Amino acid sequence: MTTTTHFPHLLAPLDLGFTTLANRTLMGSMHTGLEEEKNGFDKLAAFYEARAKGGVGLIVTGGISPNMRGRLAPLGCELSKFWHVKKHKKITAAVHKHPTKICLQLLHAGRYAYHPFSVSSSKVKSPINPFTPAKMSVRQIKGTIKDFASSAKLAAKAGYDGIEIMGSEGYLINQFSCARVNKRTDEWGGSIENRMRLGIEIVKAVREKVGEKFIIIFRLSMLDLVEGGNSWDEVVAMAKALEQAGVTIMNTGIGWHEARVPTIATSVPRAAFTWITERMKKEVSIPLVTTNRINTPEVGEKVIAEGHADMVSMARPFLADAEFVNKAKQNKSDEINTCIGCNQACLDHVFQQKRASCLVNPVACYETELTFGKVEKAKRIAVVGAGPAGLAFSVYASERGHKVELFDRAAELGGQFNIAKQVPGKEEFYETLRYFGKKLELLNVSVNLNSEKTVAQLAAEGFDDVVLATGIIPRKLNITGFEHPKVKSYIQVLRDKEPVGKKVAIIGAGGIGFDVACYLAEEKSLTNEPEAWLANWGVDKSYTNAGALLTKEQHKAAAHEKPEREIFLLQRKTTKVGAGLGKTTGWIHRATLQKSGVSMIAGVSYKSIDDNGLTIEVDGKEQVLDVDTVVICAGQEPERSLYQQLVDAGVNTHLIGGANVAAELDAKRAIRQAADLAATI
Ligand code: FAD
Ligand code: NAP
Ligand code: SF4
Repeated sequence: MTTTTHFPHLLAPLDLGFTTLANRTLMGSMHTGLEEEKNGFDKLAAFYEARAKGGVGLIVTGGISPNMRGRLAPLGCELSKFWHVKKHKKITAAVHKHPTKICLQLLHAGRYAYHPFSVSSSKVKSPINPFTPAKMSVRQIKGTIKDFASSAKLAAKAGYDGIEIMGSEGYLINQFSCARVNKRTDEWGGSIENRMRLGIEIVKAVREKVGEKFIIIFRLSMLDLVEGGNSWDEVVAMAKALEQAGVTIMNTGIGWHEARVPTIATSVPRAAFTWITERMKKEVSIPLVTTNRINTPEVGEKVIAEGHADMVSMARPFLADAEFVNKAKQNKSDEINTCIGCNQACLDHVFQQKRASCLVNPVACYETELTFGKVEKAKRIAVVGAGPAGLAFSVYASERGHKVELFDRAAELGGQFNIAKQVPGKEEFYETLRYFGKKLELLNVSVNLNSEKTVAQLAAEGFDDVVLATGIIPRKLNITGFEHPKVKSYIQVLRDKEPVGKKVAIIGAGGIGFDVACYLAEEKSLTNEPEAWLANWGVDKSYTNAGALLTKEQHKAAAHEKPEREIFLLQRKTTKVGAGLGKTTGWIHRATLQKSGVSMIAGVSYKSIDDNGLTIEVDGKEQVLDVDTVVICAGQEPERSLYQQLVDAGVNTHLIGGANVAAELDAKRAIRQAADLAATI
């Protein structure tokens, strides 16, 4: 019996004339860090092959520079010499075992290059990079065009089906196309015809070198989202010229890296930017790819069915689940491990020069190292605690063949993720719990909720091993008045929804302190209201203004209403409040709270809490914050009260997640640690 697919548009082939893509899914470009590691290309080949095997239509590799100056970092990857080809062949050979096509992304970083040899259209430093670029001479410009063409030729030699030219996100080509950086007065600057010349000449030179039967994708910045960005007319002029120059597929670029509008974080509504690709569809006739915060087959299907684009680019969703497309084909989207947009193990790692992976799928980029072979002799294992650590361990260990019984004293699976998903903009965290819940069901794991086993019971039941994933206990503080009724833990506020006054002090400005501040300042999430969300972040959807940004006055008028609440977010450290948050998302949390008027105070020492409020000392001066509520977000201690007794009773006991180490714990570490134990137990 044939079943009807739920995703007919997403899974339809795309005929490009000289070649056909198996479906409309594109795995977007992601630098993984493996590109620069010793033997990294063997691991990269396994990484890409897993996604090809998983059914994706077209893969675009991480950005590779066409020359030395365009490298993102001093030792960044480059494809410019014939001896570079060999390692790339490992990737293309692995991918081509499956009906997937693969394009190499050519990326010249321009002034985003993190080294002193960076170049750009003009000598204008980026606000997010300490290096000032040199202005390119005309000779350098022409040399760069040739370098792109030579690299494309080498890519063809390496077996790639095409290339993607990175023309967005504020990289070199974008630095030429926009007056924000391009201050030139020669034929490469000034009018839009001159500013777009670099991108067009690159496409022409590449097409001439590689012939007609080679995919050229151009990623065009359709929304710059920065002052000095292009107008819609200028973007359209460039799109039309690119089509003429020989581009096969046009991909959508949203926002420069230095833009102050979030474009991919979890708080960005799903498919919040596909309207811009839809608008471009009226202007050109080549296939268009849309992108940003599309993380389920349902959303991808809707976007294509509604005519917003011909293909959907998803990058991080393929880190989270290599089998994304195959599961969609089988109408099993509820079995997909969904990307929650946290950036914690992918982009944040890349910005710290660490190998990328995925919080919800620690196997990503470790395909050859973190493996779960079937066990010869199954063990009977009790897992206590069904937070991220307990869930992940139960799934991986069961997949290996162990017989797992999972216990949690709570009434639902998920541990602290149930609290996290209450925070406005963190609704995606629900998906991780849905995924693990479904896996437990498919693996027939015995799940016992509302179940708190004693040491005696666990010892008596003859388990081969007991895994304690019992999480944490919120830290209690030694402050006079800590027992005052106005003191609440973050759990009472977020989970139990206890009332909170109009004036609030939050003790502790870590991830949870910020989340609580956001919850109290925002109350209403805009995640399901893309129009309001765009306006709230100053995006001019009418594209009346260049760069698609609202003017200050328009932005002020469009900002959404907030509850009248005065909030103080406090920490003892003297460093900037929020300095320890995620590299790529911390600024969003800080900006959100600044917009809500939250006072962030560092270098605080806490004196006492009483009817008058919270007494603190800052810079040697004592003051009373006359708050109604004090919320404690001051970190946690491990909950492992069962551990020693189990060990003493002779039970093989393991600690994972918060139960092991609570300091600096996050779900990324909890899940990875669970996976490591499951792989070896
Ligand atoms: P937990 O999630 O604490 O789970 C422990 C489980 O054990 C609980 O379900 C508990 O009921 C159960 N349990 C305890 N004792 C027993 C017992 N004796 N018997 C039976 N069951 C027991 N992390 C991130 O990485 N990114 C984020 O953005 C993020 N945001 C967060 C936002 C908030 C508001 C909160 C509260 C946390 C956030 N975290 C975030 C942290 C993340 O949720 C934790 O790091 C993670 O949940 C720890 O996993 P765990 O499995 O070790 O423990
Ligand atoms: P945390 O990040 O370690 O922050 C704890 C805060 O409490 C710090 O600001 C600390 O700052 C303060 N503190 C610690 N001991 C204190 C004491 N004795 N008295 C007063 N203040 C004290 O922990 P968390 O906020 O509880 O978050 C737990 C974990 O969840 C984090 O590790 C984080 O990774 C994860 N999480 C992540 C996100 C995210 O967006 N990625 C969001 C939420 C949570 P001072 O010592 O300077 O006062
Ligand atoms: Fe998505 Fe977070 Fe995984 Fe990155 S780490 S791929 S954002 S779930």
